[in-house]
Amino acid sequence: MKLPEHISPEQWLRAKAIADSRETPCLVIDLDNIRQKYTQLEQGFDYARVFYAVKANPADEVIALLAQLGSNFDIASTYELDKVMKHGVDPSRMSFGNTIKKARDIRYFHDKGVRLYATDSEADLRNIAAQAPGSKVYIRVLTEGSEGADWPLSRKFGCNPEMAVELAVLARDLGLVPWGLSFHVGSQQRDIDVWDGAIAKVKVIFERLQAEYGIGLKMINMGGGFPASYLHKANEFAVYVQEITRFLKEDFGDDVPEIILEPGRSLVGDAGILVSEVVLISRKSATALERWVFTDVGKFNGLIETLDEAIKYPLASERDDDPAAEFEEVILAGPTCDSVDIMYESYRYKLPLSLEMGDRLYWFSTGAYTTSYSSVEFNGFPPLKYYVV
Ligand SMILES: *Cc1c(COP(=O)(O)O)cnc(C)c1O
Repeated sequence: MKLPEHISPEQWLRAKAIADSRETPCLVIDLDNIRQKYTQLEQGFDYARVFYAVKANPADEVIALLAQLGSNFDIASTYELDKVMKHGVDPSRMSFGNTIKKARDIRYFHDKGVRLYATDSEADLRNIAAQAPGSKVYIRVLTEGSEGADWPLSRKFGCNPEMAVELAVLARDLGLVPWGLSFHVGSQQRDIDVWDGAIAKVKVIFERLQAEYGIGLKMINMGGGFPASYLHKANEFAVYVQEITRFLKEDFGDDVPEIILEPGRSLVGDAGILVSEVVLISRKSATALERWVFTDVGKFNGLIETLDEAIKYPLASERDDDPAAEFEEVILAGPTCDSVDIMYESYRYKLPLSLEMGDRLYWFSTGAYTTSYSSVEFNGFPPLKYYVV
């Protein structure tokens, strides 16, 4: 089968060996691929600490592997915390990175030993001071211009620079340690220059806090945003490393603070191959030019990031190999009774005319935001199953 460039024949054979005997839909996660991505990240950003964003893929096997490789963890809820604690990870390797949290959940994190918290509002900061006294906090700054991101994360999180200054001062006054600033340029960010603007903005806040309040921040958390390999091409990871490192040097010279990264997608995305089956092929009229191909995976059991056709996964069928295959445009839709459950209608994938019901379709780079975004039983369809190789 014609594999996307980033899938090695070995990864494909390992995945297929597992998937062939299983019911679809299922996701096969390749731990070796995650190990390679982690090593690449660690070697590229050798000055940074990695906090894996657990939400991207919370599989126990993934957490165990990353824990063993020395990763830290960015955690968003008490449930994620319990899950990561189960693997024996020390709380000093965790942050509570969600800016939206209940006071009692902050207490829970504090009781478990977590001492690093994100915030972007006064009310949350006061909760942290009350429930997790003395902890380190970092303030999330709004970044505009996440246009280059295929899955934006702005607007909902972060505060403007003026407020970031005020919160850092308040943190100190409340007995917390104003430790640093964070931003997230948007997930699957293909425009590397967005980091330049974000780092420059952070630099201004660092300087103001030092000059006006004598507060010396120590850390920048640059979030995630690094790409997985989808149809819409992104730069090589090495280019991200080179450019972002240059931006940091330009702004901070020899005085670059501690750097934290919170990758999710780029660590686990390419490790996943989602295997599905064609349920139905139909045309809406005798003369319709395009076929509708309905698969047993859809928006509600793994492919929610096809909302607005934001993420376009590489897709293949075994009939692609047939030298006589003719390819024709299709509309791809999921199996449920909801008309939202159409993955791709504007963007037209081309699949072989010989495709038949019961054939398998392989969705590549599906290791991030698939299992964790899958509904519990919409129309009775179970959550997406996964297997690990
Ligand atoms: C989702 C999230 C991440 C991970 O982002 P990716 O683009 O998947 O790498 C990192 N940090 C925070 C705070 C997040 O919410």
